Amino acid sequence: MTFSRPENSDLSTRLTQALTPEQGTLLHLVADEAARQSLSLYIVGGFVRDLLLGHPGLDLDLVVEGDALGLARALATKHGGKVTVHTRFKTAQWFPPPATGLPESVDFISARSESYKHPAALPTVKLGKLIDDLRRRDFTINTLALRLDRDHFGELHDNLGGLNDLEAGSVRVLQPVSFEDDPTRLLRVVRYEQRYGFQIARETLALIPEALLLINRLSAERLRHELDLVLEEENAASMLERLAELGILAAAHPALKWNKATQTRFATGMAAAQTLKHPPAQRTLGWTLWLMDVPLPGLESIEKRLHFESGLRDMLLAASALFAKVNSLAGEKPSRWVAVLDAVPLKAVQAVSLALPAGPVRQELRAYIETWRQVKPKTNGHDLKKRGLLPGPAYQSILKSLREAWLDGEVKTVDDEMALLEKLTSKFK
Ligand code: ATP
Ligand code: MG
Repeated sequence: MTFSRPENSDLSTRLTQALTPEQGTLLHLVADEAARQSLSLYIVGGFVRDLLLGHPGLDLDLVVEGDALGLARALATKHGGKVTVHTRFKTAQWFPPPATGLPESVDFISARSESYKHPAALPTVKLGKLIDDLRRRDFTINTLALRLDRDHFGELHDNLGGLNDLEAGSVRVLQPVSFEDDPTRLLRVVRYEQRYGFQIARETLALIPEALLLINRLSAERLRHELDLVLEEENAASMLERLAELGILAAAHPALKWNKATQTRFATGMAAAQTLKHPPAQRTLGWTLWLMDVPLPGLESIEKRLHFESGLRDMLLAASALFAKVNSLAGEKPSRWVAVLDAVPLKAVQAVSLALPAGPVRQELRAYIETWRQVKPKTNGHDLKKRGLLPGPAYQSILKSLREAWLDGEVKTVDDEMALLEKLTSKFK
């Protein structure tokens, strides 16, 4: 990650260049209204961090010193559109009217201070100054703010050492109790470290061991959400490796492991997925590749902790069951493979095929996905009826035998199939 310490004039230019034309227009409307109400307006957090690192993102995190709800409502009164507010968190979202060419929505936060009644609880929120809002954030590199209102456009506010840490490549919490206040930061710290090729600051690293037990207090949703975010990252594998090394995975759940075999499977699967026309969703594939070798009881126990949504849970169970037995099917006849795989959701078959190294088993799974599963005899139920067979279990048995004969190459032409059909139906007449 390249970083160069910016001049203020340079920053307003960089900011202007980084915004899409829609975002630029929007920010001007917002900045004018803020100035009219004598409110200071800042863009804060990830956008500023990434702007300084030279690859700005699209999410604008706007902080107002004062009432964000009033600002959003004034914008809607003047320019139309809708506003939704969260009174408790003092945040508002403005949806400009469609067809104005403005972004779909923008989020406003009233600068606020937060305190935590007990570890891992949701915070108590009060209105405050910009600095209060920055103090409640997770890491110094996320505390940089750029002021936007009129004459101050592009002014950098660096009150908590963010610029130094960005330059040094350090991810640092703001206070020693940070992980206790919010144990999700144990996962976030690794995500930023690995995303940018940074290092967790020495003092911050030293706080991790004693904070590990607090992960137990996180709800299923908060813990799973942080892991989802990891799996959506390009560097997910190095993040999971680091989370394991620091004991964070084991603290989240003892069956969440990361080792050499997981690493290889994950890398193989992610690379193979890139070559597909319709690759599976990255997060789903990530979970599946990661947990594919966890046996059923382990998966059920992880599910109790993390509460996967039902589609993902079914996928994980099916993929793990198939992965456990797939090698024992090597060299079996296609009809035997099809009998097993027809009972497995196709997505799980695909995930296992992506995970496997090149070799006969992978080829067999791919043959199933691409060809075998669609193989059907020419004959159908109507044809059997025409031949005078009474509908019943014989139908299924005959059609299955015909399909197997095609799959295993015992039947290669329609004439072959008719000959076999003769033989099979004669048994039932
Ligand atoms: P990303 O590029 O991952 O979106 P981001 O910095 O935008 O990075 P978000 O998760 O979108 O991160 O959160 C926006 C801002 O909110 C962060 O920059 C950070 O300052 C603050 N934040 C998010 N989660 C926490 C947390 N658990 N504790 C404290 N501050 C947080
Ligand atoms: Mg963000």
